[in-house]
Amino acid sequence: MAIRIPLYDTVTENRQFAADFHAALDRVLASGRFALGNELVTFESALAQYCGTAHAVGLKSGTDALILTLKALGIGAGDEVITTAFTFFASVEAIMQVGAQPVFADIEPETLCLSPDACAAAITPATRAVMLVHVFGHCANIERFQSICDDSNVRLIEDAAQSVGSTWNGRPLGSFGTAGTFSFYPTKNLSALGDAGAAVTSDEKLADALRQLRSHGRDAMGRHACLGYNSHMDELQAAFLSVKLGRLDAELARRRELAARYDAALPPEAKRVHGADGCVSNYHQYAIRTDRRDALRQFLLEQGIGTGDYYPAPAHLEPAFAEASSRKPQASSLPETERACKEVVTLPIRPSLTDEQQKTIVDAVRRFFAGV
Ligand SMILES: *Cc1c(COP(=O)(O)O)cnc(C)c1O
Repeated sequence: MAIRIPLYDTVTENRQFAADFHAALDRVLASGRFALGNELVTFESALAQYCGTAHAVGLKSGTDALILTLKALGIGAGDEVITTAFTFFASVEAIMQVGAQPVFADIEPETLCLSPDACAAAITPATRAVMLVHVFGHCANIERFQSICDDSNVRLIEDAAQSVGSTWNGRPLGSFGTAGTFSFYPTKNLSALGDAGAAVTSDEKLADALRQLRSHGRDAMGRHACLGYNSHMDELQAAFLSVKLGRLDAELARRRELAARYDAALPPEAKRVHGADGCVSNYHQYAIRTDRRDALRQFLLEQGIGTGDYYPAPAHLEPAFAEASSRKPQASSLPETERACKEVVTLPIRPSLTDEQQKTIVDAVRRFFAGV
């Protein structure tokens, strides 16, 4: 059966912006400047304002934003970074690419995010940072992580790739840590027409270090002061993202409306996932849990409804971690993480989803659990 209601629909999502994208392209063509120009400066200041941080640094991708942030903080060989294994592998890959050791702590079953208690228990003298991942746009109690990090004198980094526009007690995620990183990959809530990412921070030194690292380590005098990367966000993507940032809150309002309707209408067998009290999610994904996950996905597929299986394997059981790691992954060392990888399914929640399509999805989920 053809997919009639896909999980993502990047054609429909971008259609409304087409005229503004063409205008942005014309502007960049007329400027003749494709790197490190006005479009980037404009987008960076709008993003910093949106996040309530002093600085935003536009980068090539969300993965680079993590790698450059870790580098800029001097984290590398011999250092441990506590994080979750229930994430897109890039979070873990970034820690490993700078030569540090990811240390996994288990998640909370309701939020699917790192458990503050498990995180506190994982701190050792070698811990340099805690990397939170606000999975699906939700967060755990972020103030507890702030005090855990303050007490142990370790950095808090937010991988906010999925959580642009989510808040904790009214304050945007990404602004709580030393740095927050975003991805503007085409399926993310604020998406470019290709790869792009950013880091936000209110630490001026860190922002300067990130700007230097994204541009071959060049300092203000034009000298190559350290080894860097070629990782700036290009002008076209910055111009496209400025268009979409202006519409982001309206799109998030639609996602939240759809989420509230799922919350109210889905049957009880579809166990809800939500942020901790105080979190207002951007609903990058709408996740439910069931021990009949694979059968539900197959049933919905037969009705032409696309779903997501985030994440099919926890990061600590991926070959790239097991091979590179000095620690052998232990069977069931992260029971909640491993259970989530077997139970979580995500339903379509993009802004372009119509009320009627959502009703079709809800009805299908109801029929599945009713066995008809
Ligand atoms: C998408 C994503 C990334 C990577 O972002 P890219 O822009 O694709 O490099 C990192 N972490 C998480 C949690 C993500 O979802």
